[in-house]
Amino acid sequence: MASSNLYPTAELRSADARHYLHPFTDFKALAAEGSRVMVRGEGVWIEDSDGNRYLDGMAGLWCTNVGHGRSEIADAVHDQMKELAFYNSFFKTTNAPAIRLAEKLSTLAPNGMSRAFFCGSGSEANDTILRMVRYYWSLLGKPSKDIVISRVNGYHGSTMAGASLGGMKLMHSQGGMPIPGIVHISQPYWFAEGGDLSPAEFGLLAARELEKKIDELGENRVAAFIAEPIQGAGGVIIPPETYWPEISRICAEREILLIADEVICGFGRTGKWFGSHYYNIKPDLMPIAKGLTSGYLPMGAVMVSDRVAEVVVGIGEEFFHGYTYSGHPTCAAAALANLAIIEREGLVDRVANDIGPYFQKQWLALGDHPLVGEARMVGLIGALELVPNKPSRREKFADTGKVGTICRDISFKNGLVMRATRDSMIISPPLVIKHDEADELIRRATKTLDETHHVLQAQGLMR
Ligand SMILES: *Cc1c(COP(=O)(O)O)cnc(C)c1O
Repeated sequence: MASSNLYPTAELRSADARHYLHPFTDFKALAAEGSRVMVRGEGVWIEDSDGNRYLDGMAGLWCTNVGHGRSEIADAVHDQMKELAFYNSFFKTTNAPAIRLAEKLSTLAPNGMSRAFFCGSGSEANDTILRMVRYYWSLLGKPSKDIVISRVNGYHGSTMAGASLGGMKLMHSQGGMPIPGIVHISQPYWFAEGGDLSPAEFGLLAARELEKKIDELGENRVAAFIAEPIQGAGGVIIPPETYWPEISRICAEREILLIADEVICGFGRTGKWFGSHYYNIKPDLMPIAKGLTSGYLPMGAVMVSDRVAEVVVGIGEEFFHGYTYSGHPTCAAAALANLAIIEREGLVDRVANDIGPYFQKQWLALGDHPLVGEARMVGLIGALELVPNKPSRREKFADTGKVGTICRDISFKNGLVMRATRDSMIISPPLVIKHDEADELIRRATKTLDETHHVLQAQGLMR
């Protein structure tokens, strides 16, 4: 029996409040309010212990690409656990699922990346990357190249390296971050920061900040540039079409490594296997996680290009780095089963040519709503910018995040999981979402926008 069925909800909620510290949470406020206890998932649906059903518009947390409740993955995990639940890859040992997964990923990754360094999460992948890029340049006799350029409002995880590479001010404000050797440039966020420029002009301007920053620091100090093809947690910032070609030009002209953080964009989210395929990016290193296992078990990896491998493999000395769970056989078995589903069901192509365009058309039409300043979407990842005085992009709601939170709470009440980032609403549904479920998602989102609009009018927060 599932553990959630063994206890009454009230008892669970009370123990949760007393003992369980949740991620990214005001502990005290949540303890007072009480958590939702999730008990079941099937396809795009999740259910809480009070019997409420929600359409999971966030695919768990950007990860459940194949949907909830896939017994094929459970069976693969079960079989692997019975055979060899765990063994490490440290002492000249290895295991079949990790080998097969590394081999499989080499056939899917962009830019001929043929090697994988496994870890437990996206954050760990970015810790590994920070170590690896500095190691790479020091092996080439250029140890002064140790600065990584990253972007404001980017998200690269929550460990010290991950959060420092990320550009989240609130995260930096606790715990002494960013750590030294990481600097941030602007994000290509046209809606909020583009001013009177066209998206194309603004995309070039934002990209050229990289060039300026390299010149300012000196090329002999810069190791790498890291960015998400589409910024996810920052609010689904879809860059103007001019952005990535210009970044690629700069990285090709300068002696720096390019890191594409594919933790969200990977595994079909954009309608290609990776966001790098979508934008024709040629990364030297690529952190992956989330959709790698569809979240069924925690696993991440760094995909390594031949350019980097030639140096770090070629040197013939020990890389003093790794995790107990690097190449975890059971997690690798889950990843293989997940990738097999994605391939067999043609989910990447489905996002590009079927459900993606079908859903996008309706999502973009939400841009006509009086509360929505912009609706945007690529593949199955999108956002709605809520604004008080359409069509002005300049006017924002006074208390940033308040309206987003109101809208998110109404959305939950309406049985739809959308995430709020500042005052924009975020969607990233499982790639298996059916046409009628997409219609239902749009119905619930529309109802949510209408109700939010009324609440804001009643509270005098907008006309
Ligand atoms: C979620 C995320 C991470 C961190 O992954 P965790 O598994 O939460 O550590 C890193 N990069 C991006 C782009 C992410 O979205």
